[in-house]
Amino acid sequence: MRLFFRLKWFIRLEWRSYLLGILALLGVAMLGLIPPIMIGRFANLISERALSGATLGPIIVWIAIATVGQYLLRFGWSYFIWGTSARLERLMRLRLLNHYLEMDKPFFQKHRTGDLLAHATNDINQLQRVAGNGVLQLFDALITGVSVVAAMAVVVNPLLTIMAVVPLLGITLVAQLLGGSISAAFSAVQDMFSQLNNKTQESLMGIKVLKTVGEAAEDTADFQTKINDSIRATRHAERLDSLFNPAITILTGISFVGTIIYGGYLVQTGALSIGSLITFVTYLSALVWPFLGLGFFFNNLQRGNAAYERITTLLAEQPATLDKKGLKQVPRGDLQIDLTTFQYPDATEATLQNVHATVQAGNTLGLVGPVGSGKSTLIQLLLREFDQYAGSIKINQIDIRDYDKDTYLPAIGYVPQDNFLFSTSVLENIRFADPNISLERVQEAARWAALHDDIMNLPDGYDTQVGEQGISLSGGQRQRLAIARALIINPDILILDDALSAVDAKTEQQILTMLHNQRQDKTTIIATHRLSAVVQAAETLVFEHGRVEARGTHSDLIQEDGWYARMFAAQQLSEKLDQEVTTHG
Ligand code: ADP
Repeated sequence: MRLFFRLKWFIRLEWRSYLLGILALLGVAMLGLIPPIMIGRFANLISERALSGATLGPIIVWIAIATVGQYLLRFGWSYFIWGTSARLERLMRLRLLNHYLEMDKPFFQKHRTGDLLAHATNDINQLQRVAGNGVLQLFDALITGVSVVAAMAVVVNPLLTIMAVVPLLGITLVAQLLGGSISAAFSAVQDMFSQLNNKTQESLMGIKVLKTVGEAAEDTADFQTKINDSIRATRHAERLDSLFNPAITILTGISFVGTIIYGGYLVQTGALSIGSLITFVTYLSALVWPFLGLGFFFNNLQRGNAAYERITTLLAEQPATLDKKGLKQVPRGDLQIDLTTFQYPDATEATLQNVHATVQAGNTLGLVGPVGSGKSTLIQLLLREFDQYAGSIKINQIDIRDYDKDTYLPAIGYVPQDNFLFSTSVLENIRFADPNISLERVQEAARWAALHDDIMNLPDGYDTQVGEQGISLSGGQRQRLAIARALIINPDILILDDALSAVDAKTEQQILTMLHNQRQDKTTIIATHRLSAVVQAAETLVFEHGRVEARGTHSDLIQEDGWYARMFAAQQLSEKLDQEVTTHG
């Protein structure tokens, strides 16, 4: 019952609907008492050979009233109670989604996406079951159960009632205990199934690697184990499940047999009319469901409680990055990086150390270095995905952690290497930040990103559907689309994180020149593996093991005999070879 207490904010919000639903349920139960009495009367009329139009008429009318009335009231309770539970579901889903959207990198590092999805689906479904089915089962059991038992005892016979009802309590017990184990077993089956799915997906995605490294046999064995586990879990669930119906049938049977033996005796001795016994038996069949429901209710409640617990724990988590009540000012001006150390929450040593740089507004900062040297990490700090570090990053002399995130982040255009296409048109994908942006501006941004001609060659131009359901764009086209998407908001700071890796050298230069011309007063940060992308940068930092090993303009760095110069020479050479292959090949 603790769950109802914890959901009292919701009950307070929706008490009217619940009250109407419960009143309708009450009406259904009361009307439900009528037909068995009428059937009993009918039986008595037959046994007394008193059946006639005049005696049968009222019976038919009463049964008709009860049936039609129940029909209408049933509609009433489903409407109110199901409607209410659907509102709870929607509310909780929105709360959870908004919470996810507010959370930052550390949160998503701690919880796997699959688990977050499971909370948003299974746990919320479970809550919805309590708020809908649960409320229904509880009140149905209370109202129908109490009224029918009372009617049996008062209208028919108290002792017979006790005899008949005691075995039915067993039904509640079975439904709660066995029902609980059965649903736990089926949840386990579901778990196994999703593990199997994950495994299949993993194996398929890595199939080439698996084959080349000769791990295919091991992978198959692993797969076989997972299949066996899944079969075992299913068998267990089915075995438990197959116990359920017989148990209920046996208990119902005991109740009916007892009733017939003792009831028959009462009829024989004249203490009870045959009609009353028939009324009694009809009532008894109407009791099975509420007693079952009560058992299901207790077990739903238990699971609902656990689900609510998990959801509230998740909702209570605060972003690790600092709170949102910062300066509502657009970050615009010089960028000053003075980072002493940064360490990922679960890392054992510092990822970045002593990174210092000044970038005047309008200039470009290059970030280069081997894979894993810390370029993306610095970008994540700029994007405020982690706020816990020693030192500071300032824009316009204000620590970026002092800006309100809601004004800070929209001023930053961020283009990751692997960007996301939404399942909509090219047009909507580019103006994703604001669907009111005009087609002209979208086209301008696409031209800047050297994408316009490609789009015009698509079947429906700017209206071509892309993403999951649409046509697929090449890696280079996707990167250029992401650049257009970032440029359209004319960001004060533009961050390209290896965002030109799939674009050919000529197009890359075309885009860089455009950026240089269009963004005279705005800052651009380019992290890249291809050094040609930072030739025009005012300064480039060369990272190694989280430290800045060298820095300067392209010509400074080329003169030093370091990683940069060696890498640049190697890349120039391979570029030249590629060109020769294309021209002569
Ligand atoms: P780069 O962008 O230069 O390839 P990264 O900044 O991605 O390098 O990585 C720097 C180091 O930080 C690497 O050793 C990497 O393994 C580690 N790292 C990256 N992301 C995380 C993370 N989310 N948690 C812990 N360590 C990370």
